[in-house]
Amino acid sequence: MLAEVAPQDGRVLAGGQSLVPAMALRLAQPAHLVDINGVVGFDRLVVEAGELLIGACVRHAAFQRPVVDGPLGKLLASVVRHIAHYPIRTRGTFCGTLANADPASEWCLVAVTLGAKMSARSIRGSRTIAAVDFFQGMMATTLAADELLAETRLPLLLADTRCGFHEVNRRAGDFAIGMSLAAYRIEGGIIVEPRIGVGGVEGHPRRIAEAEAALQGHAPGAGIFQAAADAAANAVDLTGEKPEISVYKRDVVRAAVRRALEATEQSV
Ligand SMILES: Cc1cc2nc3c(=O)[nH]c(=O)nc-3n(C[C@H](O)[C@H](O)[C@H](O)COP(=O)(O)OP(=O)(O)OC[C@H]3O[C@@H](n4cnc5c(N)ncnc54)[C@H](O)[C@@H]3O)c2cc1C
Repeated sequence: MLAEVAPQDGRVLAGGQSLVPAMALRLAQPAHLVDINGVVGFDRLVVEAGELLIGACVRHAAFQRPVVDGPLGKLLASVVRHIAHYPIRTRGTFCGTLANADPASEWCLVAVTLGAKMSARSIRGSRTIAAVDFFQGMMATTLAADELLAETRLPLLLADTRCGFHEVNRRAGDFAIGMSLAAYRIEGGIIVEPRIGVGGVEGHPRRIAEAEAALQGHAPGAGIFQAAADAAANAVDLTGEKPEISVYKRDVVRAAVRRALEATEQSV
């Protein structure tokens, strides 16, 4: 059905929590909607081959309690409470959020930082897209108009992975002004496999290699966390922003990364 209506501006309707408000404001005027809510199997949320498989219709609310033992389940439960409000969380979907690609979306940050894989399906076939290639810019992905994001796979985290998330916003439930997700493991007292993601300040969330390099091989602690936060603040690309906004956003990134790293110590 999507293949048939996509050329005439047909759109997938999942939770409707972004599309319907956009339609109400006439920002989106799709000629057709393909409602996927009744598709059998799209609510799958299972562990398969070391990955958490999240079907196209799995709602945000599904993550409010850990869906899997270990750090990944705890991390998702700590992140989901930052997404909108409870009624929205009962309808909005994980995959719909990725397809919508809001730069300030928490799930997009999780997907990029943890290395999610997205499965796109159309009558032309299926393809798997790494999160790092999926997001193309503000509200833009590699999905073609006739492609459905059928499922997302998140790698399970090893039991000793330390994770922390911090979001800066004015009111609970708002989209993030800036946010960071930090994850790493400790081997022989030093940080290995550091992952630092930042969202809300650039066109799409991304990992910040400079901040990860600042952490790699050091013992965790306030000094090294601050160094990583400073590296992230310097690394974000704010081309085109007014100077005073750039200063503010770099401060937000610095605070978000430092606090996400501090939160990793509570996850031990
Ligand atoms: C007041 C309010 C506050 C919010 N706050 C936040 C927030 O803090 N953080 C946050 O991340 N989100 C927030 N949201 C958005 C919410 O999380 C949405 O649920 C989410 O962005 C989109 O998911 P959905 O399932 O509702 O998608 P829909 O609204 O149904 O669809 C959104 C877009 O994605 C496309 N789409 C949906 N599913 C698929 C699919 N499987 N394959 C291909 N295309 C698809 C649709 O065609 C449409 O273009 C907020 C929404 C509201 C109304």
